[in-house]
Amino acid sequence: MTLAATEHSSALPVVDKSHEDRRKYPHGVAFMDGQYLPMSEAKVSVLDWGFLHSDATYDTVHVWDGRFFRLDLHLDRFFRGVERLRMKLPYDRSEIETILSNCVALSGHKAAYVEVICTRGTSPTFSRDPRQSENRFIAFAVPFGSVANKEQLERGLHIAISDTVRIPPKSIDPTIKNYHWLDLVKGLFDAYDQGAETALILDTNGHIAEGPGFNVFLVKDKQLKTPAFSVLPGITRQTVFDLCDELGLSATAADVTCDELKGADEVFITSTAGGIMPVTRIDSTSIADGQVGSITRQLMDLYWKKHADPAWSTPVSYP
Ligand code: PLP
Repeated sequence: MTLAATEHSSALPVVDKSHEDRRKYPHGVAFMDGQYLPMSEAKVSVLDWGFLHSDATYDTVHVWDGRFFRLDLHLDRFFRGVERLRMKLPYDRSEIETILSNCVALSGHKAAYVEVICTRGTSPTFSRDPRQSENRFIAFAVPFGSVANKEQLERGLHIAISDTVRIPPKSIDPTIKNYHWLDLVKGLFDAYDQGAETALILDTNGHIAEGPGFNVFLVKDKQLKTPAFSVLPGITRQTVFDLCDELGLSATAADVTCDELKGADEVFITSTAGGIMPVTRIDSTSIADGQVGSITRQLMDLYWKKHADPAWSTPVSYP
């Protein structure tokens, strides 16, 4: 891409960004404004309210071994969010399924991170009235990514609890998946300052809420517990409830204190980006003997096995 010098910008350098783009953007395919594009060309206007005001909702589903995992649950959550934000999509559910499948197929990825987004968009008259905006639909598929790397998955993550409070549910409904992440990003910097790898932040009552892109579970006396309040009801969190049903384990959503988490037998986090990921240290406390726990391992194994089960996954139609 060339930025040509004009009368008003003669001081601007002519920039050939083609090399830069290849380095900056992961290989992938996006769909926006009615067409499929390479990731490096999928760009939104700076006037889009999604960018200016975080006025957007989205969902992320993953593809593993050429199959979407729990696509229906992700689309249910996305459609619910769009409706609650009073947005309108230009495509129906089956058209969106086809678009997502096409993005993955065109990218060629067999393991992908697939995002679907609806932003408030822009108003043709630049009105400040959100009802006059034309909502924008975007989808893309890039390589699968994980919160935890291979080494962290084997030895367990080191998490720090930040005293940052998650934006209250009365301000932003956490069940609508959103980009309000300043609290989570502050939590991450707090964690890095303490030498930890990622963070958990609190709800308005001082209980554990969630982390940057994940929910958390503890296991105590073979019973599982995850925060109920001020969290996104993650699809991986739901998947853990479903796996526990199959395994005959009890799992509940309720308040979780910091001491309870540190005194647990096992702790793990859950996210579409990585699945079920063990945690073996919180602040300066080792969880139990500091090793990945047996229930965590059992759930991780079953979670990945389910990716081939047609009841839990849908094939991508590659050409
Ligand atoms: N909590 C937040 C704030 C998230 O952004 C995410 C995922 O991005 C999660 C939890 C985990 O949700 P899921 O399991 O659906 O990926």
